[in-house]
Amino acid sequence: MSNPVITIKELVKDKPLLLAGPCSAESRDQLLSTAMDLASFGVKIFRAGVWKPRTKPGGFEGVGKEGLNWLREVKERTGMLTATEVANSKHVKEALKGGVDILWIGARTTGNPFAVQEIADALKGKNIPVFVKNPMNADPDLWIGAMERLYNSGITEVAAIHRGFSTYEKGLFRNLPQWHIPIEIKRRMPSLVMICDPSHIGGKPELIYPLSQQALDMGFDGLMIESHYLPSSALSDKEQQITPAMLRDILKVLVVRERSDCSESLSELRREIDEMDERLLDILSKRMAISREIGRYKKENNIPVLQPLRYDRLVTRRVSQAAELMVDEEFIKLILEAIHEESVRQQIDIFNKE
Ligand code: PEP
Ligand code: MN
Repeated sequence: MSNPVITIKELVKDKPLLLAGPCSAESRDQLLSTAMDLASFGVKIFRAGVWKPRTKPGGFEGVGKEGLNWLREVKERTGMLTATEVANSKHVKEALKGGVDILWIGARTTGNPFAVQEIADALKGKNIPVFVKNPMNADPDLWIGAMERLYNSGITEVAAIHRGFSTYEKGLFRNLPQWHIPIEIKRRMPSLVMICDPSHIGGKPELIYPLSQQALDMGFDGLMIESHYLPSSALSDKEQQITPAMLRDILKVLVVRERSDCSESLSELRREIDEMDERLLDILSKRMAISREIGRYKKENNIPVLQPLRYDRLVTRRVSQAAELMVDEEFIKLILEAIHEESVRQQIDIFNKE
């Protein structure tokens, strides 16, 4: 295995690690103008898709490998590193031959283990950084599985990009952030570098700043932001791209919090949280013991496990209590549902076994 020339460890020395550039490479002019503007205020990694996976046929599917020549020119003229998306082994070979520094795997590809394996195989022996976007659906295992395929091919320079999850109903976001998914990935892979792509999550310029700040507050290591010198003329994702000038203004106000800053008062608050979690767990375990007791009673007296009326009353009472305590009602409903589901499971277990 060749030693990596560019390491993720080196890249994250910039806080935040930033990749910026247009959704797609469209013309030499568009690429160079955008890149020059971005380089002028210190952007070090330039992104542009040359092969574009489109939801429907007929959309702009990228300029193909010609775009790689323009990317090379961007690199020579600005000194920026370049990044592009690959979706199959042909893309990998051409991108490597074209001198691209960083590859990313798009959301539609991450969800396809055959495609990821093909990419991983094509990358054997080439230790280039690969950033893996989350799959379209909120499945942490699919995301981790894609990264494992790369590790298994000997690629050590792997990072993750959170770009939100697709939904049928369109709301505020283009793709739902579902922050608990990247948090879960980070819990399972603590040393993984995690980047947020607010352009694809928000789908609109005004959400880029708040989403970026939220990601940094949550401890994300970097950002990937789509920037185009003339967004209104963009051939893909025109609604969400921002000009380099807008990006510069956002970068000026973003606050990067030092992760190592763990003051005494923060430690104290964390100790309190740990204690409360301990008590919550203890209470939950006692509650389950009572549930099982009820299960035995129901079994002896031939009463079915599910008592919808009782459950309904229980939820209504707690939800109104939640409102009084200023706790989010939806959140309480979710917790009660999970507890109830587990209680039912425990009782059914008793019906079957004891
Ligand atoms: C992109 O970065 O332009 C892109 C296609 O992203 P995603 O795979 O997240 O949709
Ligand atoms: Mn895009």
